[in-house]
Amino acid sequence: MIASAVLILIIMTVTTTAISGLSTASGETFHPSTIGTPGKPWSVEEYKLWSDTRVKHRCYFTNILPQVESLRGDFDVLQYGEISNEESKAFPLFAVRTRDWSNDKPSVMITGGVHGYETSGVQGALLFASERAAHYSQHFNLLVIPCVSPWGYERIQRWNAKGVDPNRSFNPDGDIVDGRSFNPEAATEESAALIQFLRDMACDWTCHLDLHETTDSDETEFRPAKNARDGILDDTKGEIPDGFYLVQDETSPKPEWFTAMIEAVRKVTHIAPVDADGKLIGEPVSQEGVIQIPSKKSLGLCCGVTNAPYRATTEVYPDSPNATPEQCNQAQVACIEGALDHILSL
Ligand SMILES: [Zn+2]
Repeated sequence: MIASAVLILIIMTVTTTAISGLSTASGETFHPSTIGTPGKPWSVEEYKLWSDTRVKHRCYFTNILPQVESLRGDFDVLQYGEISNEESKAFPLFAVRTRDWSNDKPSVMITGGVHGYETSGVQGALLFASERAAHYSQHFNLLVIPCVSPWGYERIQRWNAKGVDPNRSFNPDGDIVDGRSFNPEAATEESAALIQFLRDMACDWTCHLDLHETTDSDETEFRPAKNARDGILDDTKGEIPDGFYLVQDETSPKPEWFTAMIEAVRKVTHIAPVDADGKLIGEPVSQEGVIQIPSKKSLGLCCGVTNAPYRATTEVYPDSPNATPEQCNQAQVACIEGALDHILSL
C-alpha cells in the first residue's frame, strides 16, 4: 500500500505540470486537468495515474445489487457479463426482464448508468422496474439494464476505469469528425458486454430509452479532463441547461413521441430553456426540450445500439436548486411512461 502510494506520488511529480488544490465535484483534490502536459495527449502512465487517483465514493455491491436482487420475485434477473476490477472482485452486470416475453408484444429496453455518475439514470431505471414495469408488462416486453458502468458508479465518474467514455464506445470504428462535440471512442468492456447480450437475444426492438443526466461537473471536471486526456488546449466553458431535455436521433425523429415525453416529464420537473443562442449544450433544438444530433449509431452512443425506431437519450439536471434527487428519479420514470403511453396510443 505504502509503496504504491509513493509510486503514485513520484509519477504525479514527474507527469504533472501544475498540481494545484483544484477539487472535483466528487470531492477529490487531485483534479484530472492537472494530469499530463497541456496540449499533449495522455500516455499510458497518465491514463493509469488518472484511474488510480479516482476515489471510490459508493459501493455497487451493497447499493445496487440488493436493489436488483429484490426484483427477482417478479422478473427474470440475468447476469449478462462482468467488468474486470483491479481493486477487488469483478463487477457482475445484470439485466431485469419481464417474464411473459412474447413475440406478439413490442419490445422495450431501458438502460441506465452508461455514465455511472449519473445517479438518476441508475435509480430511475430501478424505480421504473420496481414500481411501474409490472403495469406495462401486459403490453410490452421490457428489459431494464440499470447500471452499465459500475466502476463509474462507484467513483462518480463519467469514464470507465480505462479512461474511456462508455457512451461513445458503442461503435468504436465510427468516423471521428474534427470539432464535432460527439465523437466515437475506443471499445470498452461495458459496451462489448451489452452488445454481445443483445446479439444473443436477437430481439426486434421497438423502443430504447437510455437514461442520463447533464451535471455541473460536466463543465467543472469532465470537460477539462477530456481536454487534458486528448491534449486539447481549450478552456471554453459550455452552459449547463437548467432542466430536463431529450436527445433525438435525426435518422428517426418521431416528433410527436418526443412531445409526449416532454409533456409527461413537465408534470414532475421543469424543462430546460434554450440559451441565448437558442441552443442546449451547443446543439440545435427541434422543439422545446429536444436537441437533435446525427445518427447515435455513428457517434458510438448507447442509444444507437439497437435499431429501435423509437429511441431517445434522457438528460435530467440534478444540480438544479429546483429539483430534488427524488424528483430526478421520478422524471426518468415519467419520461419512460410518457414514451410507452404514446406508443400504446398509436
Ligand atoms: Zn450521460
